[in-house]
Amino acid sequence: MRVEELTSYEVIEKREIADINSVTYLCRHKKTGARVALVSNDDDNKVFYIGFRTTPKDSTGVAHILEHSVLCGSKEFPIKDPFIELAKGSLNTFLNAITYPDHTVYPVASCNDKDFQNLMHVYLDAVFYPNIYKNEAIFRQEGWHYELDENGELSYNGVVYNEMKGAFSSPDAVLFREITTALYPHTTYSCESGGDPKVIPELTYEQFKDFHRTYYHPSNSYIYLYGNMDMAEKLTFIDEHYLSAYDALEVDSEVASEAPFDAPVRRVREFPISEGENADENTYLDAGRGRPPGQGTLCGVPDSGLCAVYGSGGAAEEGAD
Ligand SMILES: [Zn+2]
Repeated sequence: MRVEELTSYEVIEKREIADINSVTYLCRHKKTGARVALVSNDDDNKVFYIGFRTTPKDSTGVAHILEHSVLCGSKEFPIKDPFIELAKGSLNTFLNAITYPDHTVYPVASCNDKDFQNLMHVYLDAVFYPNIYKNEAIFRQEGWHYELDENGELSYNGVVYNEMKGAFSSPDAVLFREITTALYPHTTYSCESGGDPKVIPELTYEQFKDFHRTYYHPSNSYIYLYGNMDMAEKLTFIDEHYLSAYDALEVDSEVASEAPFDAPVRRVREFPISEGENADENTYLDAGRGRPPGQGTLCGVPDSGLCAVYGSGGAAEEGAD
């Protein structure tokens, strides 16, 4: 069957891109409005990903904690660490999950047909039917929980909590945070999508589940398939097993524009250094520039003069292995 003949999707645009020997499609899942991009060619290294626009309103790290948590077992794959198990036996050429300041993606690639189908299935099940609703312990383990330390004192622990404590101990990360907050004070970029360790313990289990209910919905998703495969068959699988169970939902995940400043803004932020270290050699300077209005925010990456946008505190990246 051809993509054009599928009744559950409509083709919005079909285009041949000779440079990459590909036929490309932009499609829309009719029932939910899920967006789909297809790049069909003879490359055996097949790629699938599903992404959601996740625009947090605080710095509890909810998007990042959720990214970890959906990978801790799902309806059809109810084991503790399906991805660690998968990575062991799979022929994948790429397997990861990444939280960006305004979206979360779950990409996977493999040259083997069966392996590819299996990985795609596990990812779709993870994002749509994670065990987080049944098992609060997943949130506690990946997010934050209380623990008695070796001195018998109550302290915080949690995978993301610890990871972000590490990220926040880097001056580059602190600098990155500061410049984004200064440039985009009224948007989601003023929040730390990875989670600020000081704020992470404010996140409740209810808010965490609500975030999944709101943003991990087909209407707020983008699905991508690339390579040598039967695209129509894959789209049918995705519709029948996942998308068709949902109705369309209005998801308010858009990133508002930030109004330009009247004058340059200057910020100074102090950070601790070790005793004996010299402040002169530990001082950082960064200059940032907001994207001018009208240029759009395709992927919402703020222009920042001297620092790598996804280098440190801005994006939290997970190795699935
Ligand atoms: Zn992480």
